[in-house]
Amino acid sequence: MNRTDSPAWSDSTRCVHAGGADDPATGAVVTPIHQSSTFLLDDDAYAAIAAGRGREGLIYTRYANPSQRAVQARIAALEGAEDALVFSSGLAAIAATLAALTEPGGHVLAARELYGGTLGLLRDQLPRWGRSAGFADLRDPAAAAAAIRPETAVLYVETISNPTLRVADLPALAAFARRHGLLLVVDNTFATPLGVRPLEHGADLVLHSASKYLNGHSDLIAGAVAGRRELIDRIWLQLKALGGCLDPHACFLLERGLKTLAVRLRAHAASAQAVAEALAEHPAVTRVLYPGLRSHPDHVLARKLLACFGGMVSFVVDGGDEAALRLCRRLRLAKEATSLGGVETLVSLPFNTSHVALSAEERAAAGIPPGMVRLSVGIEDPPDLIADLVAALAGR
Ligand SMILES: *Cc1c(COP(=O)(O)O)cnc(C)c1O
Repeated sequence: MNRTDSPAWSDSTRCVHAGGADDPATGAVVTPIHQSSTFLLDDDAYAAIAAGRGREGLIYTRYANPSQRAVQARIAALEGAEDALVFSSGLAAIAATLAALTEPGGHVLAARELYGGTLGLLRDQLPRWGRSAGFADLRDPAAAAAAIRPETAVLYVETISNPTLRVADLPALAAFARRHGLLLVVDNTFATPLGVRPLEHGADLVLHSASKYLNGHSDLIAGAVAGRRELIDRIWLQLKALGGCLDPHACFLLERGLKTLAVRLRAHAASAQAVAEALAEHPAVTRVLYPGLRSHPDHVLARKLLACFGGMVSFVVDGGDEAALRLCRRLRLAKEATSLGGVETLVSLPFNTSHVALSAEERAAAGIPPGMVRLSVGIEDPPDLIADLVAALAGR
């Protein structure tokens, strides 16, 4: 029996069951790993190939695979979407989505505060495809409207920005996009569908680096896009043409990771709140950015929009980037590594990782002062994490 979804299910139930299908051959309760590159051809398959409908049948794993379908159905259910696709990375999902939504000559208007890889794709790669991107402060409607061109097709934003953790006003941006005839595309990696479902607030498509919270164990690179079937069909043509399909074994790992998303996220958010509050009290910390803190510039919006403030905390230490580097080296529990959203706490500095390509002035303009530390709070016990941070801040 296929357990695709039920409107009566809550998030935790969806995480465990949506998209799952008991295996008719064996009765296995876990989706089997269909580790096959290709499938037996029959008259229906030939007809589907001839009609360009390669997504519907099972022909070749770059087009479709049962392991991909199971995890796609789960992500679609979690995001409240008609359909979804998985990719071999978050950037593969973003690239295929932008390629599908823009024609040659087309333009993407994006927020200034974005993941570094997305910034690079927009700024450096889009022009190589005959497209272009512009950036504006999307919190300022007049500035955003002034940056729209006749050829602008897409408005692009992250729900919670990296590493400044600003929260996007999705309902306002959706209204703005509709008024100007743009498609609103939202990268929901930091918030997760349990924090907010952007499609319910008027977004057209929602993107994920599934390498982060959706998988949650720092052992997989994957991406996803979810939205209306008509748009997903267009993006599928790009997936098929550019490659970037997700391997069946990785689909199995991602589906397994998704089962615990609800319990993990609750633990991440509770720990992040405790860590943020402890850091805010510390004399060696000059600033803490966490949407769950009253001092956060978007706290009121975050309370309205987000069901959960997430597991990412950024803070600024006294003494600049040198002091931040020393702090990272002294941490014993938190691991100094890029990426985020895993069960283990990771710490990294924007100045020498995600935002290394920017000058000090550009970083300051992007809201990244010297000494900024980005913490992906894992699911360890908060007192252990706080003790680790306090000892490192004390120079021990
Ligand atoms: C990591 C990340 C990406 C890129 O995803 P990959 O899986 O590394 O390709 C995109 N957006 C955000 C917000 C990310 O954190």
